[in-house]
Formats: sequence, structure tokens, C-alpha cells
Amino acid sequence: MSHSIYLDHNATTPLRPEAIAAMTEVLGRVGNPSSVHAFGRAARKVVEDARERVADLVAAEAGQVIFTSGGTEANAQALRGLGAGRILASAIEHASLLAAVPGVETIPVDRDGVIDLAALESLLRGAAAAQRPTLVAVMLANNETGVVQPVAEAVAIARRHGALVHCDAVQAAGKIAVDLAGLGVDSLSLSAHKFGGPQGVGALVLAPGVVVQPLVSGGGQERRRRAGTENVAGIAGFGAAAALAASPMHGERMASLSGLRDRLEGEVLRIAPTARVFGSRVARLLNTSCFALPGLEGAVQVMALDLAGIAVAAGAACSSGRTAPSHVLTAQGATATEAASAIRVSLGWTSTGADVDGFLAAWRALVERTVPISYAKSAGFENKGATRW
Ligand code: PLP
Repeated sequence: MSHSIYLDHNATTPLRPEAIAAMTEVLGRVGNPSSVHAFGRAARKVVEDARERVADLVAAEAGQVIFTSGGTEANAQALRGLGAGRILASAIEHASLLAAVPGVETIPVDRDGVIDLAALESLLRGAAAAQRPTLVAVMLANNETGVVQPVAEAVAIARRHGALVHCDAVQAAGKIAVDLAGLGVDSLSLSAHKFGGPQGVGALVLAPGVVVQPLVSGGGQERRRRAGTENVAGIAGFGAAAALAASPMHGERMASLSGLRDRLEGEVLRIAPTARVFGSRVARLLNTSCFALPGLEGAVQVMALDLAGIAVAAGAACSSGRTAPSHVLTAQGATATEAASAIRVSLGWTSTGADVDGFLAAWRALVERTVPISYAKSAGFENKGATRW
């Protein structure tokens, strides 16, 4: 690959140099944060400094942060550990949430991919009084479409029915402001690798007074809420990335991505007027574009673009190799053909106008050489007319 363009930042975004520096420094040292000697105390300081930074990112206090192995574990701990008797989750949640426990009931979304609050209310109203509370899970921003959910409104409804609320803020953090108390949720999940920290580290952040059971028992780490020696270097990188993500400069950089994203979408629709952009009528993350071009499968687009040195995602990028149509797009009314022909382009802190130009040139070439043939095939003309194109 002579020149490569990375446009899959929602899957994972490059490490910030500050995170690499923080991790490298820690990797060169010894010390278990639970040890009482000086080496241990130094490691403990690294963990607790990072905890402060992660807490600051979501306007919480350090004691509310439980470090985990990432967003998947944080979601699992919330769903299994908050003592819920029944779980309602928006139909567009990440697989790590929908599959965390058996029997999760889904709350529908509308055609723009926004949770149907009336449906949430009636699901809660219909519930028989139970000893254990219902837990409502609503993500702050969707990983495939970027659509931002009305979490505070969902919380208001949930509270009227005595339900708890968990929010998966994995994609939102570092892209929009995340305020635990402002949202009013009981818990939220974060993942460092979505905003410039390392993979394999994240956090479950609890509202004051919320108690969660550990997924793994053993040592007393994380105030007995997650046993096991902390990933000190990973946590150091997480803290450095969180501090950067909370800085005004980072906010401005992320905001500037909307110009690139809008130019990309404008050109996509000019090249292929039949393309459908998901979530474009509602509040969306500024870096994310998910669009379908019926007649050109998403998996084919991803492979062809990859050959041209351009990385984008089809369907849910987190479960690589997946070819089933996205549950997120079908939940918001996309046909199976539309869902199967969607790709996600997600920009990040390293993205440039040249990256967007490179994508557009390759995508235009792909559409021009492929779409008429695909249409012919789906219309049953492949033996007659395809060669004419
Ligand atoms: N939640 C959302 C919305 C995500 O996009 C992802 C990963 O893509 C996860 C959870 C899982 O996070 P992790 O990769 O840290 O396990």
C-alpha cells in the first residue's frame, strides 16, 4: 500500500502521542499499585492521577470511576451488577450491551434512529411492580450512524417509573461533552481507544451512591468493584487521552471535522443521488457518516476501498468479519438491501481534507465501474445487458 487513508476512527482512533509518552514512561518502571512500598505507591499515584482525569472528562469525582478492560466489560458490569430485574435497551445499542445478559427487551427507534420515548414509557407502564428495579439502557451516541440520543429525556421517563438508567457513552466521549450528573444516569461506560488512549482499557462511572457488584471477585482493587491488578500503563494512557479530550483545543479540532464530513456527504450524494445518508436530519456526531448505496454491497465497498488503501467500515466495525446486515440500520427502517449496502466513514483527530479527497476519488471510481453492473444483476439482466455497461 503506497498511501493509506484511515477513516475508521469509530472502530479505534490512533493513540495520541501524549498517551504513548505516558504509557512508555510507566512501562519502564516496576510497581504494583497495591504494594505499600515506594514502587507500589508510585504506581498507585499513576492510577489515581488518571482516575481524576477520567472523572473530569465526564464531570464526576474520582471515587465514581471503576477501571475496566474497556467498554464491553463496563456495559456487562452495569447490566449484571446494578441489581436489575428487567432490562430495556434501545434497539440500536452496541452488541456488547444487547448480549450482556439474556432476555434484554428492546425499545424501538424511529426512522432517524432516535429512541421512541413514547414506546419506552409504555414498556415501563406495562411492567408489573417487581422487587428488583428495571434498568433502561440508552447509548449517548450510536457507533454506526453517530445519532445522538435524548438520554436526559429517557432518564426523566425512567425515573417516573422507578427505573435505573445506564448510558453507553463509549462513542460520545471525546466527540461531544459528556456530563454524568447532567444526563442524570446511574452509570455510564467509556473506552479509551475511542479517543486516543490505548485499546483494552475503559471505565464504568457510577453516579454518587450507586452500588455495583463486581464481575470478577478476588482482590480488593477498585474499592472491591473489580478484582485484579490494574493495567497501570493502559490506565496512564487513558488518563492522558482523557485530559486531552477535555481540552478546548481538542473540542475545536473535533468541531472542525463537521466541515469535512459535510463536504464528503455532499459529494457522495452528487456522485450517487440514490444514496441514503442515515441520521442526517437529527443531531449526530460531527465525525460520522453512514450511508447506503443500494446496488453496491457494503462489504464490496470496504474491500475495494481497502485495495485502494482506504479504511472504512461496513455494518458494525467492532465485530470484524461480520457480513449480516446491521441491526442498527434495520431497527430504523432500512430495508435489508439498504442495510447490506451501507458503509461507515468516521473521521478523527488525524483526518485531513486530503483524506476526504482520496476517499471521494476512490469511491467515485468504484461507483462508476460497479453500480450499473450490480443494478443489472439485481434486476436479473446479468446475461443480457451487463456487458453493455
Ligand atoms: N459501545 C460502543 C457504542 C462501541 O462502539 C464499542 C466499540 O466499538 C463498545 C461499546 C465496546 O468497547 P470496547 O471496544 O472498549 O470493548
